[in-house]
Amino acid sequence: MKKNILIIPGDGIGQEVTVWGKQVLASIAAQFNHEFSFQEAIMGHTAIEATGNPLPDETLVKAKASDAILFGAIGHQKYDNDPSAKVRPEQGLLKIRKELGLYANLRPILLFDELLDASSLKPEVLRGTDILFFRELTGDVYFGEKKRNEQNTFASDLMNYNRYEVERIARKAYEAARTRGKKVCSVDKANVLETSRLWREVVQEIAAQYPDVETEHMFIDNAAMQLVKNPKKFDVVLTANLFGDILTDEASQIAGSMGMLASASIGDGTGFFEPIHGSAHDIAGQDKANPLASILSVALMLDIAFGLQEEARVVTNAVAATLKSGWRTGDIANAETRPENILGTNAMGAKVLELLKK
Ligand code: NAD
Repeated sequence: MKKNILIIPGDGIGQEVTVWGKQVLASIAAQFNHEFSFQEAIMGHTAIEATGNPLPDETLVKAKASDAILFGAIGHQKYDNDPSAKVRPEQGLLKIRKELGLYANLRPILLFDELLDASSLKPEVLRGTDILFFRELTGDVYFGEKKRNEQNTFASDLMNYNRYEVERIARKAYEAARTRGKKVCSVDKANVLETSRLWREVVQEIAAQYPDVETEHMFIDNAAMQLVKNPKKFDVVLTANLFGDILTDEASQIAGSMGMLASASIGDGTGFFEPIHGSAHDIAGQDKANPLASILSVALMLDIAFGLQEEARVVTNAVAATLKSGWRTGDIANAETRPENILGTNAMGAKVLELLKK
């Protein structure tokens, strides 16, 4: 298979971890006889420094021409401490998502047995958890009309959804459920919100087209509770933008560390694959970042963008084997980890690569 992959390392640890994502892709290409060609582009603070623009035109052109994008992270403390800065790294990220028409954010919560004690939840509650979130990205209160009166005594954010927005993401969620545990839990607040009633109606229509997939509708307040009470009851979770924003962050704690979680944003064109973490100024440039989220983003790319399920499994298994052998980065180490087993970004990436080749 021939694929043209764009690497956008971005800022801070984004630059350190994507090195390993790219190496894993190159290794998979060699192992499975694929032809992956790589291009690089700048974005975020790095791009502002070089061009004054967080998303230079050249990056956007390359992004649209590629088959998939492996992204690192953007961000710099300079902007975090200056909310009034007009040109900001995150503008690049928002613009590229819009330009690529990415409407679904997928976040797998995949738990490795070796890391059960890295979470604040009990291992017996967590063991066996494997959830795939589908969060809608283009509708909801994020994009509805925003108002505030002159006296500053009233504000409003309009929550709205179009039928087609619900249909297209629901289809993606049901297609994915067919390849997994064949269960979709659609999360809404249909007892209160009109948008949620439309959401539920549309999901019921789509569900009827997938009789082999079991459907459950759950209110957001209940889902937030069930997620920590019994996370393994969930397979695919389908939800709107705001509920998804909150639920996926809650769920990230199930996996223990930000350094372990990958995400994919997809639409009808080029997909965008990235760790959920940011540029982590506190550890940037110190060879401390966990590269596993970037490597797991590669597994998502192989699976979702290219339909290469076997190759994706090989990558995920190499990560599991690395953890099983006892190797840890600082963020996933605990009191029982032997100091000589705690590795930096580069040594950890190299271990995965070594096990990938076996
Ligand atoms: P962050 O995710 O960068 O870091 C949060 C904490 O987790 C830090 O203590 C960090 O050291 C740790 N951490 C994160 N990733 C890690 C990894 N791979 N290995 C080990 N430890 C890891 O979030 P933040 O500190 O709130 O934000 C830092 C910057 O990143 C800000 O400028 C923010 O705007 C930006 N940001 C960007 C994205 C993105 O590019 N998608 C997402 C979130 C935050």
